[in-house]
Amino acid sequence: MATKAKTLDYGKKTIWDRIYVVEIIKGMMITLSHLVRNMANLRKGKVGITYQWPEIPMPIDALWKGEHRLMHREDGTPRCVACNCCTTACPADCISIVASDSGDDEVEKYPVAFDIDILQCVFCGLCVEACPCDAIRMDTMKFPEAAYEGPKLIFDIDYMMSNHPPGVSKISEAIY
Ligand code: SF4
Ligand code: SF4
Repeated sequence: MATKAKTLDYGKKTIWDRIYVVEIIKGMMITLSHLVRNMANLRKGKVGITYQWPEIPMPIDALWKGEHRLMHREDGTPRCVACNCCTTACPADCISIVASDSGDDEVEKYPVAFDIDILQCVFCGLCVEACPCDAIRMDTMKFPEAAYEGPKLIFDIDYMMSNHPPGVSKISEAIY
């Protein structure tokens, strides 16, 4: 036997519901109130209504997760030990690391290649959370640049080793 589709009960419609005039006027009043409030804020010089980005930088919260960077050891080599904890934690499966023997018994491995596919990255920060060495951070306060194709969409080890947050210009200042 065929099952009948369930009919949803939205209640009884009044005549005013059926001609929609009152609802349209209510909607227009909400729009008008937003317009008046925005005009008043504009006259007071309050910012934040429309940001003229990218000509004028938008204010960014200190907790915002920006482009990734790889941290340095004092000798300038990557702090990363190629343990792959970040690749395991990454929900987008967009990190790829090629490891090699470092020749140092304390370090064991280091990354020969470390790539992040930015088109797949969801900027969740789980790679940063998973890292046992504080070797990767997302505190650069930078947006990835727009691009259609090419290396800009893959963050490689060279890019991330020199991707410093604002106020940090030298590698020596990136060790902390
Ligand atoms: S921020 Fe998230 S999605 Fe992006 S590389 Fe890290 S873990 Fe993967
Ligand atoms: S960045 Fe951290 S978690 Fe990822 S491979 Fe390097 S040491 Fe391991």
